[in-house]
Parts: sequence; C-alpha cells; structure tokens
Amino acid sequence: PGEVTPEITPSRLFDTPIKVPSRLLMGPGPVNAHPRVLAAQTLPLLGHMHPPFFSIMDEIQDGLRYLFQTSSKYVLLISGTGHAGMEAAIANMLEPGETIVVGNNGIWGQRVTDLSARFGGNVVSLETAAGSTLSLEEIKASLDQHKPAVLFLCQGESSTGAQQSLAGVAEACQEHGTVLIVDTVCSLGAVPFYGDAWGVDCMYSGSQKVISAPPGAAPFMLSERGLKKLLNRKMKVASYNFDLNLIGNYWGWFSKARQYHATAMGLGALGLKPFVESDADRLVSVNTIKVPEGVDWAAVVKNAMEKYNVEIAGGLGPTAGKVWRVGIMGYNAKLENVELVIAAFRDGLQQQGYLK
Ligand code: PMP
Repeated sequence: PGEVTPEITPSRLFDTPIKVPSRLLMGPGPVNAHPRVLAAQTLPLLGHMHPPFFSIMDEIQDGLRYLFQTSSKYVLLISGTGHAGMEAAIANMLEPGETIVVGNNGIWGQRVTDLSARFGGNVVSLETAAGSTLSLEEIKASLDQHKPAVLFLCQGESSTGAQQSLAGVAEACQEHGTVLIVDTVCSLGAVPFYGDAWGVDCMYSGSQKVISAPPGAAPFMLSERGLKKLLNRKMKVASYNFDLNLIGNYWGWFSKARQYHATAMGLGALGLKPFVESDADRLVSVNTIKVPEGVDWAAVVKNAMEKYNVEIAGGLGPTAGKVWRVGIMGYNAKLENVELVIAAFRDGLQQQGYLK
C-alpha cells in the first residue's frame, strides 16, 4: 500500500551538455559577468561554517566597505537579488504603524510603497514626475510635515534613468530621528556613493548590475544609527529570511559566536544507531546518527575533516551534541563517498576506544 510507480520520466536535457548562447547584455541589467567572477564560480564549494569560508566572508566585508565608502561594521550580502535587499531594508528598518516617506519617481519608489504597506507601515508617497528627481527642499518639507521614522530614496531609478542627489538629506533626516534608506541597485559602482559622508543608515544594492557578478548576492549595509533602529525594535522582524539579527550574527556583526542561519547510511555495523527510530520517518538526504555515550562527537568531526578531508556535521537545535548529521545529497550521493564517511567514522571511533 502507498507504493507509487514514477510516471514522469527524466528530461532528455540531462543527456546533453548545457548550451547557453553568448550575448552582449547592454540593457539595464543583468550585465555580462566579469571573467574573474565566472572563474571564481568554478572553485570548490566549501561548507558554510568552515573557517576558510569565514575568511572569504571577512574579505567580502572589507570589499563592501570600500565600495560603500563606509567604516561601518554592519555590512554583508543578503542571499537574493536586489529585491531581497529591498525587502530586508524595509522589514528591518520599519515597524508596523510607523510612517515612511517614499521618494517616488518610478517603478522602484512604487515597489517600496507596496512593500512598506505589506509590512504594516503608514506610507507617504512623495511623488515627482518620471524623469525628474526630488529637490532637497521638497524632501525637507515632507520630513517636517510627516516626521517619518524612515525615508526611502532610490539613487538610480532604472525605470526612468534619473539619479537622485543624496547630499544634505541625512542632516535633514537626523533632525527628526528619521532613518535614511537608499536603493543603489542600478547605481553602486557607476556613480559616487559615500555611505559615511552622506549619512546613509541603510543601503542595499544588486550584484548583477555594475558589480558584474551573477544575481543572487545583494550588497547591504547599516550605519550605527541603522543598527540602533534594529536593536530598539518593539516587534520582531516579520521575515525570518531577512531578519538582520540572524543574518548579521552569521556575518560576525555581534560579539556572539557565529551561528548558522541558512545553507548550507550504513553505520549499524559500527554499532551506531539512527536518531530517528522509525524507518518510515527517516529522511535519506540528512542522516542523523546518535552519538554514543562517552564519545566526543566533535573529535570525530575534526578527525574526519583533517584526515579524510570530509565534512560531517554535529547536531543543530534540539539535536546539538546528541547526533552527527551526514548528508547524502545530489552529486555527492555516491557509494564511494558513503564508504569514505564510514571509514572516517570507524577511525574516529577507534581513536576514542569505542571500537577496536
Ligand atoms: N532597484 C532598482 C533601482 C533596480 O533597477 C532593480 C532591478 N532592475 C531592483 C531594485 C530590483 O533588483 P532585482 O531585479 O535584482 O531583484
């Protein structure tokens, strides 16, 4: 009972090499990726909690500080496209019931208006004609009138080709305790951006535009004032994926140890037992194995990495310290890999005298 015969056959595509035409992308983005970026994408994958991976994250943060012209500690990449940066900015900087003034002279102002309403903001759309930008006087008048918690401006409005000046805006914001968010998806790297000198509190960008990388990593920053706004929130950030308390922790913003936010067998003969007791309830892609009494699980993990160059993981959340987790997934789901993992377990357990 419950047996299903698969009726949908695999695509013929799997039999042939992937072919992609070479095109010169001269639209508003994505643009062709820089060859250095494409070459970097052929490098081996690392685990998301491996020390060499953390070093790369640190280097990225240094690069972002240069790109943003900021000495702020609070820079990172949001996993996702420019929209992810936009959503992270609004989800974290705006609380339900707070007022946001949105500079609106094209698609991106409209979208932030929509997004802010979804997160419960009281939205004031500060409009000007498509192709024009807001003057400092217009911005100041709106701040004086609405005293918003947040002001949004788009530096490069890619739907119209207008560039919004940011000079003097932060000073006006600070008079009202307003946090300044700037969209630089289509402008960062092409026109000057001075995060510190211009007093920008929250900024997001995109990777597939001027930066010339594939889409999927949105450069992001908070100033000290931006961070304070986050830490003083009365309500939790309504988005888990974009909660900067969690993502910032993974990027080393806080003094706590870095914690995982998002990704990243036949052991019975060794006397090991599965954590999930019922065969029917056991996931095949992530195998949880009980750590026997008296065994140092971390030493087994370390030995596997150092001697076999193989990653296995400890528990997470309710299983922390109680299990090992072995993934058998996709390209790595091969008998030879499983055998290597078993060998690493055998060796680690022998070292601790659990096995002879
Ligand atoms: N803001 C601006 C100014 C943009 O030009 C774009 C993309 N055209 C976005 C935000 C959204 O970025 P993405 O398409 O990477 O989600």
